[in-house]
Formats: sequence, structure tokens, C-alpha cells
Amino acid sequence: MDVSRHDIVIVGGGGAGLRAAIEAAQNNPDASIALVSKVYPMRSHTVSAEGGAAAVARDDDNLELHGYDTVKGSDFLGDQDSIQYFVQEAPKELALLENWGCPFSRNEDGTVATRAFGGMTTKRTWYAADKIGFHMLHALFQHSMRFKNIVRYDEYFVSKLLVDDGVCRGVAALDIRTGEYHTILGRAVILTTGGGGKIFPFTTNGTIKTGDGMALAYRAGVPLKDMEFVQYHPTGLPGTGILITEATRGEGGFLRNNQGERFLVEYDYGVGTKAELGPRDMISRAIVQEIEAGRGFKGPYGEYVQLDLTHLGEDKIDSRLPFVRLLAKTYVGVAPVYEPIPIRPVVHYMMGGVDTDINGATELPGLYAAGETACVSINGANRLGSNSLTECLVFGAAAARHAMDFSAGSSDGNEAALTAQAEEEAARVDDLRGRKKGGEKISAIRRELNTVMESACGVYREQGSMQHGVGAVAQLRSRVADLRLEDDSKVFNTELITALELANMVEVAETLAVSAAHRKESRGAHTCKDFTTRNDDEYLYHTMAYHNPAGPRLGKKDVVLGKWEPEERKY
Ligand SMILES: Cc1cc2nc3c(=O)[nH]c(=O)nc-3n(C[C@H](O)[C@H](O)[C@H](O)COP(=O)(O)OP(=O)(O)OC[C@H]3O[C@@H](n4cnc5c(N)ncnc54)[C@H](O)[C@@H]3O)c2cc1C
Repeated sequence: MDVSRHDIVIVGGGGAGLRAAIEAAQNNPDASIALVSKVYPMRSHTVSAEGGAAAVARDDDNLELHGYDTVKGSDFLGDQDSIQYFVQEAPKELALLENWGCPFSRNEDGTVATRAFGGMTTKRTWYAADKIGFHMLHALFQHSMRFKNIVRYDEYFVSKLLVDDGVCRGVAALDIRTGEYHTILGRAVILTTGGGGKIFPFTTNGTIKTGDGMALAYRAGVPLKDMEFVQYHPTGLPGTGILITEATRGEGGFLRNNQGERFLVEYDYGVGTKAELGPRDMISRAIVQEIEAGRGFKGPYGEYVQLDLTHLGEDKIDSRLPFVRLLAKTYVGVAPVYEPIPIRPVVHYMMGGVDTDINGATELPGLYAAGETACVSINGANRLGSNSLTECLVFGAAAARHAMDFSAGSSDGNEAALTAQAEEEAARVDDLRGRKKGGEKISAIRRELNTVMESACGVYREQGSMQHGVGAVAQLRSRVADLRLEDDSKVFNTELITALELANMVEVAETLAVSAAHRKESRGAHTCKDFTTRNDDEYLYHTMAYHNPAGPRLGKKDVVLGKWEPEERKY
């Protein structure tokens, strides 16, 4: 087996991974930084972000306000030390990104333009029309190419963390092109593998978002934190789940029911004067309630409400929301300049993830995480739109600095032992390739998983269905051990990759269902019909899910409070 050695290994080539690689490479010209990604970096999910990235930029804004908005948005479950660090670093990170070539939209006077976003007190979302992810990822990717000491492993699938003497010292990765395994060693590893929205059937997430990094860390004994909190974005296209960005509402779009009413204004959904600019959890619930009250529209893919942009005018739509115009036309045959767009809530983002401290460090020495796969946590029970891209930059850079420090003070470990682990992993996966003796189909298990997760952990949750979900996912986990695979080829064996991803999805889903069923309150995106209010006396803590053969074992971690005292969350 090929063995290569670097100072650190970064798994993931999206916003967080590239930012981490640049930070490590720039500060340490003599160090070797491995960047491993299961897809070519530009195909990471970050590329599809539309609306923008948040950071204080205007005179009427300040760090205090961005911090408070984020804490309140998190329903007081976000850690206030991390949030303060985040808001303080955010403007610096976006300015850096601009220096590296990200073409942010401008005001008439040449300053950076900002737009309104849900739950934010003022306009603080920097944007590039409605294609921020595309421009941000390009800027990062191109900048990363300046550094000869970033060694890329494109289209390598990491399936195991290598741990020796209690320290994470590398990864075992399948070269998808050749089907051969590779041992990639480093004195520290950073996971930046993104979220896992694909465990749900109806999602804005790309096919590659299968929670791999979360599963890798979990199996290595690192707890997953706050997994019950899943964000539904209010405005997805029925059928495909393609995202229609929150920027549509930031630019002045309205939500309407089948009576033509702006229901967020007409009815009391707790978003007050914020109306369409309320936070995502609340607006998603309002849409579901409108539909349940008989005020939705019926369509081939279930009921929906409308997003009306017609009053914005063609010029504004073309300059600020050109991609939305194209998506609506292409995927639902609607011209937003003249007619409203059908939309319904769709799974978008995972607030939970690999438990890290403010430096990106996990409980396992040598293992770090950043971006959507990590839970620092700045997002708590509900993320504010446009905080995530900035989070990837701020904590990607921080994790890189701390991982480099760790790497400098650590040893290479026992190379023979590490390689032996990789050999064992290669043999396990080789056994799975074309495994005709199994009885279970990948597609069937994935479909069942999707169905269970939607009914157990949707916008509204009930104890009965969550408990049922816990049992059902545990069964699926045991069935994954008996997969049947047809393709025994080595080169680009996508069936094999899908099987590895499915095992990750099932494990991540189980932590989600178990964490959700245990939290007997309603907070942020976790809305439980049996326990309708937030219960700070009993549940103001982070849920920790630890790997255990019989199913996740739960623990607790204190929330870092600070100057913002928990209060009723009203807008
Ligand atoms: C449609 C859409 C629009 C969005 N719009 C916005 C927005 O406007 N503003 C905002 O703030 N947020 C937005 N978000 C959220 C935000 O884009 C994501 O949370 C963020 O981009 C995640 O970045 P990341 O670097 O953590 O992961 P990703 O960009 O998902 O990258 C993950 C990387 O990990 C690699 N990887 C994964 N598993 C493995 C493995 N097993 N082996 C090797 N490599 C692996 C992948 O190849 C990839 O390179 C949006 C999300 C979506 C889905």
C-alpha cells in the first residue's frame, strides 16, 4: 500500500477545508499539508451557496449586535465564547476573501453591499448577486493553488481515522480512480467534510452530503453534539428540494397563502414585525401551520405556499437574484418576474456535529473539525442564514492554526501500526466490493432511512414517532452489515462508495433520532408537540452522543453562557 507523510491532513475541500489549508500553508511554508477530498474541491457543496456570508460591515451595525442576534437565533444554546470570537473574526475573514478575489456586490459608492437576512437586526450579509458559494469557493481554490506545500488528493474517499497511542495520526483513503487504498499520515487531522442532509428525503443538500466526517469521528470515540437540531429552510422547490435563497426575502419578497394573504403579517407566528425576515425555524413552522389550516396550495409534490417576488421588478430580480430566476424557470416552469414561486420547507443544514472546543479540537488528541461537520457551537438550536459560510472561514483558519501547533509538538507515532490499521481497513472494504452473498439492497435501506427520518424528525416532532424512529434506525444499522453489492470492479466503483456512505448515514441518523427523542422540550429547530415550551431548568445543555455497539449513549455538556442571559425568544 502507498504510504505518504505530511504535517497535517485535512479531509474536505469545501469552504472550511480550503480555508484551513491556506492558513496552514501560508503560516508554515516548510510544512506539508495534505488536502483529501472525495470530489474535486470545486464540486463541494459550498459551491451551491446562494445568499451570502454574514459579518459586520456597516456604520449602523456592531459586533455586539451580531453576537446577540446569533445567540438569540440559537435559542440560547450557542456557546457565547465561540460566538464572540466568531463575530470578531468575521469581518477580517471576509475582507481577506475579497483580497483573494471574491467579487462581492458593491454599493453605488463602491463599498461592499450588504443585504438583510432572517433573524439579523440589520443588513450584514455580504453577497455576490445570488451565487456567493460559487465565487467564494473559486476565490479560495484559486488562492490555494499558490501554495506548493498543499498536496491534493482529489477523489480519495476517507473511510477510517488512524489512531495510535490515543492520538489521531492519519487517515485510510480509497483512491476512487484506481480502487487502491492509500495511507495518508499526518501528526494532526482536520475534518471539514460538511453536513449530512442526505439522510432526509427532501433536502437542498448535494448527493455527497452523507455525514462521513461525523461518522468517522463518532466511530473513533469522539462524541457528536446537538445532533437533534436539523434546520429546515422555509423555501425549497417542491419535488426537487432545490433551494430558493433567503436573499429573496432579504430583497423584499413576500410569502403568501392560498387566500393571497401575507400570513406572517396576518397571523401571529411570533416573528412580529420581522415578518418574512424572521428566523428559519419559526418561518418553517408557520408554513406548516398554514398548510395544516387549509391555506396551502395543492400540487403534484404535496402542498405548498407561495413566494411572491413580482413586486420587486425585473431589474432588481436580474441584478440581485438572477440565479433564482433561472432555477424557478428551469425546475418549476415559473417566471418570478410575473408569477409567484411555489415553495415548502426543506432540510437544509445540521446544527449538530463533531464536538469541538473553540479551537476546533476534539476530545481525541490530534483530531480537529471545522465547518458544517463540526459543532463548536455558534449555531445552537437554530442557525441564522449566512452565518455558516463565515463560520467555515473563521473556524477553518482557527482549526488549522491549532492543528499545526499540535503537529509541531507531536511525534510521528508508530508507522507500522498505523499502516497495519489501513491494511485492515482496505481488506474490509475489499470484502464489501461486489459482495454478492449479502441480502440487502443499498437503495432499499436508503429509502427506508429517508422515510423514517422524515416522519420521526421533521419540522414538528412527536414522542411516539421519534421513539419509533430510534428503533427503526437501529434495525437499519444491523441490516447495513448485510449489504449486497453487484459491482466488483476497482475503477470508479461508485456502488462501493455509496455503500460506505450509507453506513455513515445510518450511524449519523441514529445519533440524531436518539438525541431528538431524549430532548423533552421545544427549542429552536427541535419542536416537540408533546413538550411545547423551552425548558431551561432541565435542558439548557448540549446533547452528546457517544458511540456504543448497542446504539448511541448520551451525555451532557454545559452551554457556555455569558453576557446574554437566556430570555423568551420573541421577534
Ligand atoms: C444549496 C445551499 C445553499 C446554501 N447557502 C448558504 C448561504 O448563502 N450562506 C451560508 O452561510 N450558508 C449557506 N449554506 C450552508 C453552507 O453552504 C454550508 O454549510 C457550507 O458551505 C459547508 O461547507 P464545508 O466546507 O463545511 O463543507 P462542504 O462544502 O460540504 O465540503 C465538504 C468536503 O468534504 C469532502 N468529503 C466529505 N466526505 C469525505 C470523505 N469521506 N472523504 C474525503 N472527502 C470527503 C467533500 O469532497 C467536500 O470537499 C447553503 C447550503 C446549501 C446546501
